[in-house]
Amino acid sequence: MASIFSRIISGEIPAAKLYEDAQTLAFLDINPASRGHTLIVCKEELPGLLDLPPELVCAAALTTQVVAKALLAVLQPDGFNIIQNNGKAAGQVVFHYHVHIIPRWEGDRAVGYWRPGTATSDDLRELAALIAARVVEESV
Ligand code: AMP
Repeated sequence: MASIFSRIISGEIPAAKLYEDAQTLAFLDINPASRGHTLIVCKEELPGLLDLPPELVCAAALTTQVVAKALLAVLQPDGFNIIQNNGKAAGQVVFHYHVHIIPRWEGDRAVGYWRPGTATSDDLRELAALIAARVVEESV
């Protein structure tokens, strides 16, 4: 069964579209966190960031930047968030890769934030060493 976003891409269901190219589509979120809340989707139906080939990572990032510039020019927010959820535990509801652009105005409380935790410098150093070694493996 095609995802809700694939059905928007195919034109089966309507959306307020902002931009389209060969690999990506941008449209307004139907339940916006703020005015202008936009989704950038890859046309290919892949669940999350780790499923994307490098060229689609780049295509989605480029569309995100271009559309963010247009949102800023039109709405003149004080800032904007880029959010991209991966997995149910991270709040992903639609398992078809997408990036949120959420325009922000001072004091709008449109997006919730994490509670800053604590870590010892030993924890940080050990964890950094583990992950850094793995990053080398992942990047070859
Ligand atoms: P996520 O939690 O990252 O999977 O976000 C999914 C987003 O898709 C939510 O912000 C929804 O409001 C949005 N959404 C779901 N269905 C539609 C639709 N038909 N048109 C536009 N946005 C949608």
